[in-house]
Amino acid sequence: MNQMSAEHILQPAQQLAEPFSIDEQHPQYRIVEIFESLQGEGFNTGMPAIFIRLGKCSLACSWCDTDYLKFELKSLNDIFAMIDGYTAKNIIITGGEPTIHPYIEQLLDALKLKGYHLCIESNALHAIPLQIEYVAVSPKYCYSEKYAKECISHADEVRIVMDPDKLGSPEKGVLPLEKEQRVHTFIEWCEEIANKISAQHYYLSPLEVDGQMNILDTITAIGLLNERAKGRQKDTKNLANNFIPHWQLSLQTHKFAHIQ
Ligand code: SF4
Repeated sequence: MNQMSAEHILQPAQQLAEPFSIDEQHPQYRIVEIFESLQGEGFNTGMPAIFIRLGKCSLACSWCDTDYLKFELKSLNDIFAMIDGYTAKNIIITGGEPTIHPYIEQLLDALKLKGYHLCIESNALHAIPLQIEYVAVSPKYCYSEKYAKECISHADEVRIVMDPDKLGSPEKGVLPLEKEQRVHTFIEWCEEIANKISAQHYYLSPLEVDGQMNILDTITAIGLLNERAKGRQKDTKNLANNFIPHWQLSLQTHKFAHIQ
């Protein structure tokens, strides 16, 4: 669910319409990679985890750094053989977009039976399987029209990439507005998402394009979001029914540490 310097654009409809050779009795999974590392971002930064990256996505952000179309089909037994030697007890199911994977519930049931704590990284457009114990979602501003129609309503954490110019859009190009207006519109969208998705933690993450991260712009936007939240908090009489999120910075620390 990350970002990269090069582009790869595939229309979501194309991806999802491809024939899929899997049956319920013998499910196979599109495995891009399985590895053990530390969670690099968000609330669980530093947590040891086994990452299971599943192929395909329902979006096609142009700055995505995940090669989610290069995968091999693996059975449950293959997957267990791959994770057997790892020591972490947390599993992070990621992608691509893991929630669209056929028979994901069977994989999650099997992992849960083995005693793993299950976390997911999702784009928040699709229902989260019930087996998941920690939900991190990353709604994409470059697809704001999709989130206006529907998205999930609860998560543990929400992480939004600082992309006020919608550079991730397949049509990408800077919006015909002054920078200040673009940031303002982006901030309003972040607030809209916080109203739609209730969570414990809200983060903005810098966008990385061609090796450059817009960290300072991200910090400025966090300041504006929290300033506006404070202003609303003063006006709010019944806080129990009017949750005001506190926004924080999330860095992809694995990139700084040069680890997977
Ligand atoms: S939602 Fe995540 S995995 Fe899918 S294209 Fe966008 S950044 Fe990549």
